[in-house]
Amino acid sequence: GIPTVRTQPIAQRRVSRQIMVGSVPVGGDAPISVQSMTTTLTADVNATLQQIAELTAAGCQIVRVAVPSQDDADALPLIARKSQIPVIADIHFQPKYVFAAIEAGCAAVRVNPGNIKKFDDKVGEIAKAASDHGVPIRIGVNAGSLDPRLLGKYGKATPEALVESALWECSLFEEHGFRDIKISVKHNDPVVMIQAYRLLAQKCDYPLHLGVTEAGPAFQGTIKSAVAFGALLAEGIGDTIRVSLSAPPVEEIKVGCQILESLNLRERGLEIVSCPSCGRAQVDVYTLAEQVHAGLDGLKVPLRVAVMGCVVNGPGEAREADLGVASGNGKGQIFVKGQVIKTVPESQIVETLIEEALRLAEEMGVD
Ligand code: SF4
Repeated sequence: GIPTVRTQPIAQRRVSRQIMVGSVPVGGDAPISVQSMTTTLTADVNATLQQIAELTAAGCQIVRVAVPSQDDADALPLIARKSQIPVIADIHFQPKYVFAAIEAGCAAVRVNPGNIKKFDDKVGEIAKAASDHGVPIRIGVNAGSLDPRLLGKYGKATPEALVESALWECSLFEEHGFRDIKISVKHNDPVVMIQAYRLLAQKCDYPLHLGVTEAGPAFQGTIKSAVAFGALLAEGIGDTIRVSLSAPPVEEIKVGCQILESLNLRERGLEIVSCPSCGRAQVDVYTLAEQVHAGLDGLKVPLRVAVMGCVVNGPGEAREADLGVASGNGKGQIFVKGQVIKTVPESQIVETLIEEALRLAEEMGVD
């Protein structure tokens, strides 16, 4: 399940309609969900299901698969049935795959208004099939494939152009009484992306899927996404997020979950509070923090572990955390819930912290 948040929310959430992506509510007061997209050939059912299982284990709540060919469309029924989380079919160019995905039991379908001109006459049929099956549609506008009409009108993918494209497509569905929609307006520049989503948030009440598209390799993409999502989420804008990295999709999920945890939009999991180290450090903080992190990786428990290099901020931070060490003179003072429980030689700091963390986790009922 989705962990609940005990702390005060950072912002009043924008009021949006709620849709159901399979079993996952998106919009309204639903927790903000994290999603990713598989990189396997969708037609390779085993590889795709394997990757979906890895994503699910990492905290992914909704997964999208690309459907560029008939073989991929043919794989959808099995993938949709066997996946542990709702599957969204990502369709470009070919309306026939939209119908195939709806029939296949996919939880939602993503269409791109920039490359589905042929869709305009088919929207009525799509709306009917989608509503008959209770399948929502994501209208996914992307700067790189903006509708040529709007590119002509605005000269480039401005926030106004992205929003106009999305709302135009929505209006076609609305003409058929279909409003089971979520929207994304992605751009690779966080500044344009933030402006586009702000504008969109004012102009409709559909739930919004946040994304910085083609954000780049892991480091750059992480920063761009964190900055852009952070700005919007801190204003209450955004109902589901997808971090796009040129890296394995599990990395996208880790970043997405961390962004939500940082803003208290999801209960924090394991958190290492470690100092940057400085000329006063009496221990190798980097190695210590790395070893503690590695030793506790995968522990699904809201635990704050402080790893501090000296006595300046060490005892204070260690005391505030659930568990911590303040190092000095070749020794480490181990704190649990604000109390020094023991002092151990430097060589035993890591094992002691890990041991105590596991004991606390067990007390909290987590294994
Ligand atoms: Fe430097 Fe000590 Fe602060 Fe770490 S806790 S940054 S070693 S002063």
